[in-house]
Amino acid sequence: TTDVYYDEDVDASHIEDKTVAILGYGSQGHAQAQNLDDSGVDVVVGLRESSSSRTEAEADGLRVETPAAAASEADIVVMLVPDTVQPDVYETIEDGLDAGDTLQFAHGFNIHYGQIEPAADVDVTMVAPKSPGHLVRRTYKRDEGTPGLIAVEQDATGDAKQEALAYARAVGCARAGVIETTFQEEVETDLFGEQAVLCGGVTDLVKAGFETLVDAGYAPEMAYFECLNELKLIVDLMYEGGHMGMWNSVSDTAEYGGLTRGESVIDREGMEKILEEVQNGEFAREWISENQANRPAYKQYRSAEQNHQIERVGADLRELFAWDGEDADADAAEAPA
Ligand code: NDP
Ligand code: MG
Ligand code: MG
Repeated sequence: TTDVYYDEDVDASHIEDKTVAILGYGSQGHAQAQNLDDSGVDVVVGLRESSSSRTEAEADGLRVETPAAAASEADIVVMLVPDTVQPDVYETIEDGLDAGDTLQFAHGFNIHYGQIEPAADVDVTMVAPKSPGHLVRRTYKRDEGTPGLIAVEQDATGDAKQEALAYARAVGCARAGVIETTFQEEVETDLFGEQAVLCGGVTDLVKAGFETLVDAGYAPEMAYFECLNELKLIVDLMYEGGHMGMWNSVSDTAEYGGLTRGESVIDREGMEKILEEVQNGEFAREWISENQANRPAYKQYRSAEQNHQIERVGADLRELFAWDGEDADADAAEAPA
């Protein structure tokens, strides 16, 4: 079985005398910077001059420099700007990475797909909280934490893993448990999961169910409740008790119908193709060139999604049921990213 590291397994001294540059002050950046600061680690935030996050970071009591200045004074440089802009930001901070410094990520895309190629004398690591930033911050303040992953891609100093563990501890992850993985495994499982199951699979399943009912003449409001709204109740049961916890809570009729009919809507070959395109880099190449072209397809898909009937029906219904909507917002913000 996989080793899980907790606070008591980690030697905090591996980060004690180091300066950490947090590049970006968004979801992960604001959380990791403040948790490190509260853990007594020397933190400098790196933001471009024009950044709208500057005042926020300063109001939180942190020192802010440009990414280049922050990186050059730091021993550990953490890339917490959006993945699509990381290669550009890297160009501006590359000179600040001295031999023995660490370049750290929270997601492996740019390293695994060769968009950033650090010098061989630099440690390249990952510390990835398995949770959106606001929860990384909120749980830390309650003396709890969110589980996290660490990975070492390049170990120039021989200290990369111990340092990553110490960092994971300082942001609170080792309170909940830290697992070691590789950049490849983290990227491939993350992309597959969000495409096939979490973000892609589930929205298309909901849409297909909704359209099937509406096309057959049922009220869109009924279809919305049945296929989208109730999904949360089912997912909550699965989250708490696994599939059996869910099956035990629904009616026997729902259980029998689900067990006998569910598989027929799943396309296993389609799933394997998704995984293949993640593994062979086809998806990554497509997404990189899509960004280079200023996202024409992305914009089209987004606008089609915005204009889908389920969005209009849902917006109206959520307004009518505002008492539930507020609750749903708070819970949605805690969903996996
Ligand atoms: P965000 O989108 O929240 O990052 C926004 C920050 O990046 C802002 O401070 C913004 O400042 C800055 N930024 C944006 N563009 C630039 C630029 N061109 N140059 C300099 N700074 C810029 O990022 P996330 O926190 O979502 O993601 C950071 C990393 O963490 C990614 O690798 C992601 O995959 C990973 N991750 C994210 C999780 C999440 O929950 N969101 C979970 C686990 C990992 P400005 O005001 O200048 O625009
Ligand atoms: Mg440096
Ligand atoms: Mg992802």
